[in-house]
Amino acid sequence: MSFSSLGLSAPILKAVAEQGYETPSPIQAQAIPAVLTGRDVMAAAQTGTGKTAGFTLPLLEKLSGGKRPAAGQIRALIITPTRELAAQIDDNVTAYRKYLKLRNTVVFGGVSINPQITALKRGVDILVATPGRLLDLHAQKAVAFDSLEVLVLDEADRMLDMGFIHDIRRILKVLPAKRQNLMFSATFSEEIRALAKGLIQDPVEISV
Ligand code: AMP
Repeated sequence: MSFSSLGLSAPILKAVAEQGYETPSPIQAQAIPAVLTGRDVMAAAQTGTGKTAGFTLPLLEKLSGGKRPAAGQIRALIITPTRELAAQIDDNVTAYRKYLKLRNTVVFGGVSINPQITALKRGVDILVATPGRLLDLHAQKAVAFDSLEVLVLDEADRMLDMGFIHDIRRILKVLPAKRQNLMFSATFSEEIRALAKGLIQDPVEISV
């Protein structure tokens, strides 16, 4: 099994090789082709399994062909529970998109909102966000979702544990209905399945 057999193109393969990754991890081998089909995906995977590349690499592949987003618009949204995770995912995206003309940025609470507003003004292909700050930015009209193609909920179980369910539901209400949804969670409890029910259609289910 190699990254090149998973449907990723040369600029992404080059960046992945530079990271020193030789073989896709089990979650990557399953998630990358599944995300590339365009179907919704529900994946059970813990941190440390390589899940971040499992969703960000096919996301970059899908976005690499499209048009630049207009001011304030984003094409993909990755929601994750903590600022540390958000920063880490954004760092990975920055490394993996090195040979692509795509923009990414990260927003989270506890720091000044103004630089985040400025970054969003240029239009962003991939936004990594924590729920509360994303809602604040939306309320301030700094971000709009008209161009959104893909939503990723990362660590969905932790988001529920941390009490973000209402924030998530408020975000979901303002997203365009036609989009691809990816949900990653360490566990699939009843609560997670209930959230997925209103969100995800006919998903490819993956567990490692
Ligand atoms: P994650 O589970 O996404 O937090 O990734 C855990 C760690 O594994 C990160 O430091 C990644 O850079 C690294 N990693 C991800 N995929 C691979 C791979 N295919 N080969 C080697 N290391 C990887």
